[in-house]
Amino acid sequence: ADLLNTPETDIIKSLFFKGIAVNITQSLELETARAVAEELGVKVETPEIKSAAAKETEMLDAADLDNLQTRPPVVTIMGHVDHGKTTLLDSIRQSKVAQGEAGGITQHIGAYHVDIEHNGNQQQIVFLDTPGHEAFTAMRARGTRVTDIAILVVAADDGVQPQTREAISHAKAAEVPIIVAINKIDKPESNPERIKQELTELGLVAEDWGGDTIMVPVSALKGENLDNLLEMILLVAEIEELSANPDRLAKGTVIESNLDRARGPVATLLVQNGTLRVGDNIVAGSVFGKIRAMVGDRGNKVEAATPSFAVEVLGLNDVPEAGDEFDVYPTEKEARVVAEARAEQQRDSRLQQAMSSRRITLSSLSAQAQEGELKELNLILKADVHGSVEAILGSLQQLPQNEVQLRILLAAPGEVTETDVDLAAASGAVIIGFNTTLASGSRQAADREGVDIRQYNIIYKLLDDIQGAMEGLLDPEE
Ligand code: GDP
Repeated sequence: ADLLNTPETDIIKSLFFKGIAVNITQSLELETARAVAEELGVKVETPEIKSAAAKETEMLDAADLDNLQTRPPVVTIMGHVDHGKTTLLDSIRQSKVAQGEAGGITQHIGAYHVDIEHNGNQQQIVFLDTPGHEAFTAMRARGTRVTDIAILVVAADDGVQPQTREAISHAKAAEVPIIVAINKIDKPESNPERIKQELTELGLVAEDWGGDTIMVPVSALKGENLDNLLEMILLVAEIEELSANPDRLAKGTVIESNLDRARGPVATLLVQNGTLRVGDNIVAGSVFGKIRAMVGDRGNKVEAATPSFAVEVLGLNDVPEAGDEFDVYPTEKEARVVAEARAEQQRDSRLQQAMSSRRITLSSLSAQAQEGELKELNLILKADVHGSVEAILGSLQQLPQNEVQLRILLAAPGEVTETDVDLAAASGAVIIGFNTTLASGSRQAADREGVDIRQYNIIYKLLDDIQGAMEGLLDPEE
C-alpha cells in the first residue's frame, strides 16, 4: 500500500473481490501482489537475486540487494550415530575458542562460532550443534533453510551407514553443499579409500578421484587435520558468496527454545539478515516481546548480533518453537498485533485440520471396511458400571474378527472425559458410551478434535453397530 500510494483497505477490498480474504498483516504471493498492482496500473518487476543461497533462505528482500555484505557460513554436522559428530564439534570448539576469553565459560546455546585466520583476514564460521539435527530437517520441512554447508562425518573404520545415506539425501534435497569429514583416521583399521569408494556409489565423488566433493581425512579425537577442514569450509563459503544486509531490522530463525525457571522463556535466534539488538520488538512464530538481554555462545553479553550469528534472547512472552521464523518490528504495538494475528491463524488452521482430514467416525470406518482398507477398529468404551463393561467386552469378543481386528484401547466405568477424547484423537479411535454421560468439556473437545462419541443404552444396538461397521455395512448417514 505504501509503495502504491493506495489506502490499505482498497487493496484488501480488491483482493476480497478476487476471492482472497486477507488481513493487513498477511504476506501475499508474488503473483497475487503483481495482479493487484497491475490493476492499479503499476508494473511489477522482480530483481534478480544473485546468490543461490540467498534466494533459498528467502531472507533477503529487493531492498537488501544494494547493501549486501559477506556473512560467515552456518554449518551443520551430520552423519551416522557414533561416527564422531559430537567429538568433532567439541574439538573444533576447544581448539579455536581461546581459554580466558570474554565470559570464559562456554555456553551451550545451540550454536557457536570460531574465529579463523584466512587469507590474512580474521574470519568466522558458525556451527549449529542442535542435537538430532532438528535444525536441519525440521526447519527444512517448514521451508526455511538455516544451513549453508553440511559436514558429513563418516567413520573410516565403519563406512557408510543408514544415517549417512539419510544425511546425504537431506542435504541434497536442500541443495546444501556437502563437505565430507572422513573421521577416526587415527585408528589402525581405518580405511579412507574404502569410504571414498562407498560414497562414490552415492554420487559423492572425491576430488582426487576426479569428482567435485571435498573430502578431508580427520581425527576428531586427536584434533588432527581440523585446520584443513575449517579452511575447506571457508573456501566453499567463498564460492557460495554468502551475503546479507546488516543494515536493517533483523530476521531469522529460532534454533532452540525452552522455559527457564529463573529467566522465563529463552530462545536461541540465528540472525539471517539485518542486525538484532537489545530493545528490539520481536515476533517469533506467534510469540512476541521486547528483547531484554542477549547472551552469546561464550556466556558473554551481546548488544548487537549481525547476520549468521546466534544469540540467546530473553524477554519473549512465551516459548516459540524451534524452526519458527522471527522478525523485528519498529514498535511494540505492531509486534503484538502480528503475533496475535498469527496465534489466531494457527488456531484456525488447527481447527480446520481437526474438522476435515482427521475426523474419524464409526460410519467413515465402516466405509473403509467396505473398501477393504480397514484393518483395525479402535474403540474406547465407557459404561455406567463395571458389570456393563464386562458384559459388553465379552460380547464384543464374540464378534468375528477375520477381516477387521477390534482393538479396545480403554474400557472402564464412568463418564466420557476429555482425556478419553484426547486418547481417541491421538489414536484414531471411536468412543462408545453405554448408559453414561459426557463430562463437561468432552463434547467441545470432541468437536474440536474430530472425535466421534456414540452413546447407547441398549446393548444389542451397540453390538449391531460395531459389527455393522466392521463388516462395512453401517449406514453412512449414521
Ligand atoms: P556421534 O554419535 O556421531 O556424536 O559420535 P561421538 O562424537 O559421540 O563419538 C562416538 C565414539 O567415537 C566416541 O567414543 C568417541 O570418542 C569416538 N571417536 C570420535 N571421533 C574419533 C576419532 O577421530 N578417533 C577415534 N579413535 N575415536 C573417535
